Amino acid sequence: MSVITIQQKGKTKLVQTTCPYCGVGCQLYLKVRNDRIVGVLPVTDAVNEGKLCIKGWTCHEFVHHPDRLTTPLKREDDGTFTPISWDEAYDIIIKKFMEYKEKYGPDSIAFFGSSKCTNEENYLLQKYARVVIGTNNIDNCARLCHAPTVTGLVYAFGSGAMTNSIAEVENADVIFVIGSNPTHQHPLYARRIIKAVLEKGAKLIVADPRAIDLAEFATIYLPHNPGSDIALVNGMMKVILDNNLEDREFIENFTENFEEFKESLNKYTLDYVSKITGVDAALIKEAALLFGKAESAAIVYAMGITQHIVGVSNVLSLANLAMLTGNIGKESTGVNPLRGHNNVQGACDVGALPDVLPGYQKYTDEKTVKFFEEKWKCTLPTKAGLTVTEIINQAGEQIKALYIMGENPMVSEPNLNKTEKKLKELDFLVVQDIFLTETAQIADIVLPGSSFAEKEGTFTNTERRVQLVRRAVPLPGKAKEDWIIIKELFERSGYKTSYRHIGDVLDEMAEVMPIYRGITYERVKKGEYIQWPCPNPTHPGTKFLHANGKFSRGKGRFSINHHLEPAERPNRKYPLVLTTGRILFEFHTRSLTKRSPTLQAHAPEPFVEINPDDAFRFHIKDGQKIKVESTRGEITIKAIVTDKIKPGIVFIPWHYAEAAANLLTIDALDPQAKIPEYKVCAVKITPL
Ligand code: SF4
Repeated sequence: MSVITIQQKGKTKLVQTTCPYCGVGCQLYLKVRNDRIVGVLPVTDAVNEGKLCIKGWTCHEFVHHPDRLTTPLKREDDGTFTPISWDEAYDIIIKKFMEYKEKYGPDSIAFFGSSKCTNEENYLLQKYARVVIGTNNIDNCARLCHAPTVTGLVYAFGSGAMTNSIAEVENADVIFVIGSNPTHQHPLYARRIIKAVLEKGAKLIVADPRAIDLAEFATIYLPHNPGSDIALVNGMMKVILDNNLEDREFIENFTENFEEFKESLNKYTLDYVSKITGVDAALIKEAALLFGKAESAAIVYAMGITQHIVGVSNVLSLANLAMLTGNIGKESTGVNPLRGHNNVQGACDVGALPDVLPGYQKYTDEKTVKFFEEKWKCTLPTKAGLTVTEIINQAGEQIKALYIMGENPMVSEPNLNKTEKKLKELDFLVVQDIFLTETAQIADIVLPGSSFAEKEGTFTNTERRVQLVRRAVPLPGKAKEDWIIIKELFERSGYKTSYRHIGDVLDEMAEVMPIYRGITYERVKKGEYIQWPCPNPTHPGTKFLHANGKFSRGKGRFSINHHLEPAERPNRKYPLVLTTGRILFEFHTRSLTKRSPTLQAHAPEPFVEINPDDAFRFHIKDGQKIKVESTRGEITIKAIVTDKIKPGIVFIPWHYAEAAANLLTIDALDPQAKIPEYKVCAVKITPL
């Protein structure tokens, strides 16, 4: 094991590792004394420059929590759990899997990879699904956040990842943040944006239905309606064209489909766009001119763009804007999707997706399939697998058994009443996790896995940087490293493996994934943090993609995207739009952050933000408990009356199981990326 250990006074050592929360991937030291983590220190690194946000500073607090799972559990008929041995757990799982495979075929079994687990663990799980079970039914929670990014950016550019690096945003002339709240979700990236504005004179455009913290630093703030992103961006592009601010040379040399795209913008006049977005036409024009005149302009977005039934078209619109102005393939520009989880980028890279093999290689390409079949000594499945959302819809029907590694769909899925009903229709559910999450509570078998501090492996951050996670403390009780659990599943299913160490898995990934080819265990262990694509062991990695107009797919492709109304609009009975998001002190489904005393001391209870006009209209006072209802469910929650949100819209952070916003959200999907429309549904509010 490679550990950077610095002896301090007494017996404290510092172990360098990667933050387990957001996709920024800050480097930090865990302070370890007597096999306990007693604190955290930031590392001075290219990503975080010796700083951490409050989640990073407190990321050790859940590790030694008494709620940790320490032994495999089996659910009895009365719903209680009995501790069982690993032997018994493996025997039950494999017996069930083989039974279903035999009786209903391999596609009756499905797997969720984990964007919290390492690349190696996700690589092994997708390999187990494909090689041992014979199904492509493997997906991860990118489906619920950035699936449209992968689909959209592959279509436009040929690669579905963030095009530029975190540090580059600091030197952009103009930064356009749309559908992202980085001071809460990616604080160390937000710091770079604020630094660019305050210290380097960058101009900031913020488009968001809520006056998020960054709006205070913005030259122009565009409070557009949820679900109106395409109209806004199309309107801005029409202004850019009308004022001859497009980059003609770039368009002619490096792109295709421009004329058709240009024609498609004709109807997006400022008046038309202003009506759809609810934003003053003059402000839209001002933002467009600012963006169009910039020497270097960076586009930054997150789930405000992707979590719509038009998620892919939203992403494509932003790709159009970057190509139109030549802001791609250059330093401090680009299309920059901020990934939510520590390793959601990596989980996708290594193939925990139902329609691509590791490294985004096509499962339909004959040469690729032959290569993998020879390497893995198997026959690969020929049919695309189901996505997370489709697997849940098919639970109890096509899907009989589900294996979930480190995900918590009982809080994260939309329309939770339906999700719960579907998950309970499964014949067999296995959950591998570190706590008895809401999902683990309904599992048949629960396997105790490892936290980030108890294992080795790699995470890939939002800027494609592969970083080492190092073991700092021993595992609790009989818990196991997650990669060991999957390796043992392989072996007990009759498949011999030769993995002695996590490095063997990383080296196999490098062999089979051209984008990771030069990212060997030896290099990573030495402390090299390499950004893919890295085609060979001497390549330094790639700071920004598509340099000099050389798009991964050849030419950049303009696309035609038209405004489409959200799946559910407010109506007489449900007159308000609900939009959801995240807050600084919580993470995802709270399985980790609710066990951090420091974060909970700061974290507010669940709340709904309401504009003063709506509060007056519905007789609601600040701080009052209210009922929020949609056609799918209802919750009781505290009202916060604030003019930070537009009239007609309410906002709820979705982390809290006790007032789960996802009981209300709609499960309408983007037809291509199959992401749910978390950002818009119709609700009513009633004072209690
Ligand atoms: Fe961790 Fe993200 Fe905060 Fe950095 S910005 S410390 S990666 S949560």
